[in-house]
Amino acid sequence: MIPLFKVAMSESAPAAVAEVVGSGQIGQGAKVAEFERALGERIGNPRVATVNSGTSGLHLALHMVAASGDDEGEVLSTPLTMEATNWTILANRLRIKWVDVDPATLNVDLDDLARKISPRTRAIVVVHFAGYPVDLGRLAKILDEAEATFGFRPVVIEDCAHAWGATYQGGRMGTHGNVAVYSFQAIKHLTTADGGALVLPDDELHERATLLRWFGISRGADRLRNPPDVAEWGYKFHMTDINAAMGLANLDWSEEVVARHRANAAHYDRELAGVPGLELTERAADRESSFWIYPVKVEDRAGFMKRMDEAQIMVSNVHERNDTHTCVRRYATLLPGLDRVAERVVCLPVGWWVTEEQRAHIVETVRRGW
Ligand SMILES: *Cc1c(COP(=O)(O)O)cnc(C)c1O
Repeated sequence: MIPLFKVAMSESAPAAVAEVVGSGQIGQGAKVAEFERALGERIGNPRVATVNSGTSGLHLALHMVAASGDDEGEVLSTPLTMEATNWTILANRLRIKWVDVDPATLNVDLDDLARKISPRTRAIVVVHFAGYPVDLGRLAKILDEAEATFGFRPVVIEDCAHAWGATYQGGRMGTHGNVAVYSFQAIKHLTTADGGALVLPDDELHERATLLRWFGISRGADRLRNPPDVAEWGYKFHMTDINAAMGLANLDWSEEVVARHRANAAHYDRELAGVPGLELTERAADRESSFWIYPVKVEDRAGFMKRMDEAQIMVSNVHERNDTHTCVRRYATLLPGLDRVAERVVCLPVGWWVTEEQRAHIVETVRRGW
């Protein structure tokens, strides 16, 4: 079976991790700081605060910019994502207001988003689905209009869990003035086993995130003799040196990983265009997807999946729509765009492990029909 996901561990990672494990310093220390500097260089924004998962990063981001203590606060979000994106809104005691999905991109429908901003909007969460960046320029214009209308500018949180290596107008995710959150979970492009990072748009938020990821206590060298005051309580969301060492060892390799995902995707773009019953997603000239997954839209998805299974090709829609879960039933709303694609989305193996022969086998199988 050609797998849909595989852990991208570099050859140097086991020794790098073993060194930390035996060093007597396994908590948050120098490796975490080194990993943050290295991430900042890659991303093009030094304001990086690592955490123990992407979910923790989203939780902390929402806590910082959206939690207000009242019962009316809403967060606009997409229903087509991993549940982590949305359950962290609930964990912050905020309401979810679903934004429809654009069938062309599988990202949020920005027309619908513009309509749904209101005085209750505390934040906007977007997901760069599959690693394909949301049109952040257009989103900024929508926020300008909202600011003119309502007198405040909701903060945008970009869930970049699929988007390590993706670019929008030449800049990596985390350089467009919003709060960006990456995941380094086991099967993401860059892995630390579990881990994540917030990339912040200003020094104030960066400092606050750095404090609130560990109880709100400053980890200065003099901490034990001179205990600092805690002005604002925080969580225990920090990363350890073990995970950071793995991340550092995987960092160069992750660039190669993304390049291979892209090369496979480019092959599919060429070979699958025009196949009857199959539709590709949008490709805009001003952005480059990281192709964590390769979604297509197919007629008769059950038939398609059965045909792929018979050919030993693992396929899946990967993320179920979140809005139909029982625990969020009270937020249900009409989402015609999502209705049109939810039953058609399916992802093909596109990762670094897919060989040219396997790629050819996948193309041939799809072209033969289902
Ligand atoms: C993986 C993922 C997350 C959660 O990240 P973790 O590091 O597993 O907590 C959030 N959002 C999306 C879209 C994801 O794919």
